[in-house]
Amino acid sequence: MDGLNEPLIRLASFLSVLAIMATYEIAAPRRKLSAPQRLRWLSNLGIVGVNTLVLRLLFPLAGVGFALYASERSWGLGPLLGAPHWLWAIVCVIALDAAIWAQHVMFHHVPALWRLHRMHHADLDIDVTTGLRFHPVEIILSMLIKFVVIALLGAPAIAVLIFEILLNATAMFNHSNVKMPERADALIRTLIVTPDMHRVHHSVDPSETHTNFGFNLSIWDKLAGLYKAQPNLGHDGMSIGLPEFRDPRELRLDKMLMQPLRSDGAGAIKEAM
Ligand SMILES: [Zn+2]
Ligand SMILES: [Zn+2]
Repeated sequence: MDGLNEPLIRLASFLSVLAIMATYEIAAPRRKLSAPQRLRWLSNLGIVGVNTLVLRLLFPLAGVGFALYASERSWGLGPLLGAPHWLWAIVCVIALDAAIWAQHVMFHHVPALWRLHRMHHADLDIDVTTGLRFHPVEIILSMLIKFVVIALLGAPAIAVLIFEILLNATAMFNHSNVKMPERADALIRTLIVTPDMHRVHHSVDPSETHTNFGFNLSIWDKLAGLYKAQPNLGHDGMSIGLPEFRDPRELRLDKMLMQPLRSDGAGAIKEAM
């Protein structure tokens, strides 16, 4: 890993995928966006800034640094099995993806964690920037869970770097508001989560919100019976977001950061009145 400029590789990958998907969204949008886009982009990219700062301050080692630390001490299953480095790296990229999928399911089903994660779902439209919109406390917990998984696996640093770059890229890809040829979608989603597949997860209908948890490989939802191919109302007819956060003012960065502290259903009651 020496000699690699890790932050630069990450930044280059992030900016390239963001630029490509944003251009694709303008060229071939899937849905007409309904919420104020400038505010959404300002807030969703603003939270990227907040999260980057929080992670750098709390975990200067980050995942890759932690993997190096763990491998110097021969922690985890990898050194125990003595598997070839390259093979173990591939296994770890896949295992980390399974772990992040399981974590996502957990964040939906444990009420205290759902309070954090629902901010991701409160976006009133879904586009490339929604893939970056996570509450800082969820990001901190994610990092801690990732440290545990890295230590248990004895994941090589290169596997963690590949996994993190892939996850960042696929998250932006599958949140994009892009229209893909049906056959391309069908082919890609045999392996990777497509925008049409992940959009179902952002449906306001709870029977759809708790399906399609994958961010990268599509296989985990299919294996767990949590896969839903298309939304009931179709991609144009479905509503995005959560019933309790329908007011566009909720898209402001300060409101987003406070959402975990809001009592459940407060917005829904206001709406009913
Ligand atoms: Zn979710
Ligand atoms: Zn999402």
